[in-house]
Amino acid sequence: MKLTFYGGVGEVTGSNYMLESGGEKILIDCGLHQGSHYAERLNFEPFPYDPKTISAVLVTHAHIDHTGRLPKLFKDGFRGNIFSTPATKDFSELLLLDSENILFKEAEREKKPPLYTVDDVNRAMGIWRKIDYHVPLVVGNFKAEFFDAGHILGSAFIKIEADGKSIIFSGDLGNSPAPIIQPLEKIEDPDYCLIESTYGDRIHEDVDKRQEMLEDAIENTVKAGGTLLIPTFAMERTQEILYHMYQLFKEGRIPRVPVFMDSPLAIKLTAVYKKYESYFNKETYAIAKTGDDILNFPGLRLALTTEQSKDINGVPPPKIIIAGSGMSNGGRILHHELRYFPDPKSAVLFVGYQAMGSLGREILDGASEVKILGEKVPVRCKKIVIPGYSAHADQPHLIDWLRPMRKNLKKVFVVQGESESGGVLAQKITDELAILAEVPKPEEKVEL
Ligand SMILES: [Zn+2]
Repeated sequence: MKLTFYGGVGEVTGSNYMLESGGEKILIDCGLHQGSHYAERLNFEPFPYDPKTISAVLVTHAHIDHTGRLPKLFKDGFRGNIFSTPATKDFSELLLLDSENILFKEAEREKKPPLYTVDDVNRAMGIWRKIDYHVPLVVGNFKAEFFDAGHILGSAFIKIEADGKSIIFSGDLGNSPAPIIQPLEKIEDPDYCLIESTYGDRIHEDVDKRQEMLEDAIENTVKAGGTLLIPTFAMERTQEILYHMYQLFKEGRIPRVPVFMDSPLAIKLTAVYKKYESYFNKETYAIAKTGDDILNFPGLRLALTTEQSKDINGVPPPKIIIAGSGMSNGGRILHHELRYFPDPKSAVLFVGYQAMGSLGREILDGASEVKILGEKVPVRCKKIVIPGYSAHADQPHLIDWLRPMRKNLKKVFVVQGESESGGVLAQKITDELAILAEVPKPEEKVEL
């Protein structure tokens, strides 16, 4: 079995790996490069392999940095099947259509053809098959099984076997226990493993305090009479924040102020959560079974249309606005940031990873002035970070996940991290678990 690293090496995004056995080729993930303009230009490069020769793509989860080039793969000739868990397929459809919309607008601005069209998304969905956790899947020479990765609803790590060897593709691993979903599963027996390293060099502080920290952020901003901006990823993070607010309101721990969910995508994704309540963890499933809507509460207002979004401006603070994108790279949050960044009474709350090159990262790194939608904006609002909401495992969690595999593992490939965190994690794996670990190079080929 041969493994090639085509994306997700030396970077968090752009996940794309190939396995070959007996002349057959499959891909694991086919994600968008995200973050900087340089990274985004890479998406337009031709695939370094012929998409017509690929027989299947196995998708770990619905995040666009794992799925975002699938429509382009179809456009460029891929006619095999795509496989994922049922929830991942449903979420991917919404996320890919949203991404198409953003890419289309960008292409128009830059006067170049878009990466792909709505038709390409629909055609990719037509060859997409659902396979549930733990149901064996056979694709030619390859046998595969999906396990719960505890990262977002429907997320999986995938075990693939061929030629008497087995390998795990971690996808993204969750920061378990998470508020809504099941914890990350553990297994023992693979020969090789690719492990993500987004937070490979860090420890998430105060995971058990994330809800209290959210409570404080809301209370303090309300007291100051400001607006609390929460730039958030429409998938999972938004629902976790909603669920925690549902509990805080229910227990009377925060004052009743208007909460706006200003994201058509988040509104649609949240609706899909209802369909997959059986994937929830025990505690959350039990509440959902009583008929309570864990993702709704009095005071929550949904802004689906542009008009509804603009109407938020007319509502006087204190108020809370949840909007995408999660790294402030685009989306409706920018309009609110433009308005409230100069206001010292207001606050911006970071609940997720901010990639190098993103506006979110610029703010976190202490910029006193930023450019938003062509305008220079002073940053005078408060900045609050709640690292505990990360959907990614931190270094101790990553090591714990690998530990049961140490008897059989021949080598670990550290992927999906910036070079610093990947290197640190590889060293830690070697030191603590005595397993060979390396950070592969782009397009590196390995015989397993
Ligand atoms: Zn992810």
